[in-house]
Amino acid sequence: MSEPTTVAAGVSTADKDQALVNKTMENAHSAFQLYRRIPAKDRALFLETIGKEMDKIREELVAVAGKETHLPAARLNGEINRTIGQANLFAALIREGSWIEAAIDTEDPGRTPPKPDTRKMLIPVGPVVVFGASNFPFAFSTAGGDTVSALAAGSTVVVKGHSAHAQTSELVFGAIQKAIEATGMPPMTVQHLLGSGRTVGIALVVHPYTTAVGFTGSFSGGKALLEAAQRREQPIPVHAEMSSINPVVLFPDTLEKNAAALAKTYAGSITLGMGQFCTNPGVLLGVKSPALNNFLSLLATEIAAIEPAKMLHKGICEAYTEGLNTMLGHQGLTVVGEAARTAGDMEARPLVASVPASVFLKNPQLSEEVFGPFSLCVVCDDKQQLASTLKNFKGQLTTTIMGTPEDVRANMDIIELQQQFAGRVILNNVPTGVEVNASMVHGGPWPATTDGRFTSVGTSAIQRWVRPVCFQNFMDEMLPAELKNANPLGIWRVVNNNFTRDKIG
Ligand code: NAP
Repeated sequence: MSEPTTVAAGVSTADKDQALVNKTMENAHSAFQLYRRIPAKDRALFLETIGKEMDKIREELVAVAGKETHLPAARLNGEINRTIGQANLFAALIREGSWIEAAIDTEDPGRTPPKPDTRKMLIPVGPVVVFGASNFPFAFSTAGGDTVSALAAGSTVVVKGHSAHAQTSELVFGAIQKAIEATGMPPMTVQHLLGSGRTVGIALVVHPYTTAVGFTGSFSGGKALLEAAQRREQPIPVHAEMSSINPVVLFPDTLEKNAAALAKTYAGSITLGMGQFCTNPGVLLGVKSPALNNFLSLLATEIAAIEPAKMLHKGICEAYTEGLNTMLGHQGLTVVGEAARTAGDMEARPLVASVPASVFLKNPQLSEEVFGPFSLCVVCDDKQQLASTLKNFKGQLTTTIMGTPEDVRANMDIIELQQQFAGRVILNNVPTGVEVNASMVHGGPWPATTDGRFTSVGTSAIQRWVRPVCFQNFMDEMLPAELKNANPLGIWRVVNNNFTRDKIG
């Protein structure tokens, strides 16, 4: 079990917080010097053991998280499975090993000038600070995707737990500590702090030993962390996933043929998890037609039947109510449909509104995220106005095409526009539900994330916590195993521009 991090009594809260952060980051830095040298196969076992330890306390985790977040047991169990699956996926990735992108160019002394031997691979950046997300108490919190991808890379992690599920976060940290002990990892490989984002959180971000930050939450929170990181003497990357309204384009032929199914599917997606997903379809777009009107009236019926439910925490519920009221206060909006029952304490009332594209285009506030079970249907006069509206979108995590093969063939120019602002382009599906695999992109241009070159879901998420290093003219015995001539790990490498697992020489 790791030693608890403590500070002397009798000092101010701010000083105590700072002292705690200093001690924590010193521990993270020292542990990194040991952890980064631990072979990938042992780090893989550590990740798998975290999953096993979580599974052992599953019932308690579900009970505590249920109380703290109001999420149902089925969802929480599914999320624990996903969290364990993510840890196992990263374990498999690093056990196989090719992810480190080894590239080798052997020497050519006969060239003029002589060509040196150069060998490149990815190495961990150092201690990473992870902010737990409120809307994923497991999969994007203490042992979530940010944490396990950083641990897989060989970075140590300091988690700033989310106060909305503090007890859950402590329990998961307990499971991580057991895994550290069972697999002989350095005791401070993962540390856990609770406290205010504005004090403890910012102090962690600006600490000189912090080398990168992972975050999922509000636009204002992510931006505050990014700005703090950029004000440092040595700026560091902040990988923040912040805000997205995930535009869905409903094409005419599918509206004619599939309106009832579309309405059912989208009512489900808009209200899944009471809309508390970053992939929630916050805006639907279509060209005006009787088929679009018919779809909207079917959607209204579906939404009316959905029961309001409690949101994750009071702050999110208040933000939803305020965001919805602000949205509905804008000129030109019409309520299409809303849940028949009024929302009770801490509950969100699902609602769908519509607005003409001419109004939407003139008012940038209408494209701001309302985090919860809300969606705005933008009604365009024609295809040209649809194109203008799409050109106006800021960066998004996803965008969706709902269309028949005829729709797709007739609208490739529109689909081309969609690819330009989103990280994931979906055909005939819903944006909610994110696969965790090698091909997933859960990222997108600003303000969806702070850096659209990366993903926070899937195996490529590891790339946020590494940097490339090139060894020039090293003797074979000095090289890391990944770059040695004999290729003892048997990984895929690019040797003199050819992909191969062969040894050199
Ligand atoms: P949040 O307010 O952004 O908080 C997330 C984490 O960041 C918390 O640990 C928080 O600390 C910290 N933080 C927030 N603002 C900060 C600042 N200015 N400086 C330093 N640290 C800061 O997110 P939330 O609590 O999950 O939900 C609030 C709103 O965020 C929601 O209503 C929604 O609009 C949005 N949200 C979006 C997504 C998404 O995926 N797009 C997901 C979740 C939430 P504290 O513990 O001190 O608050």
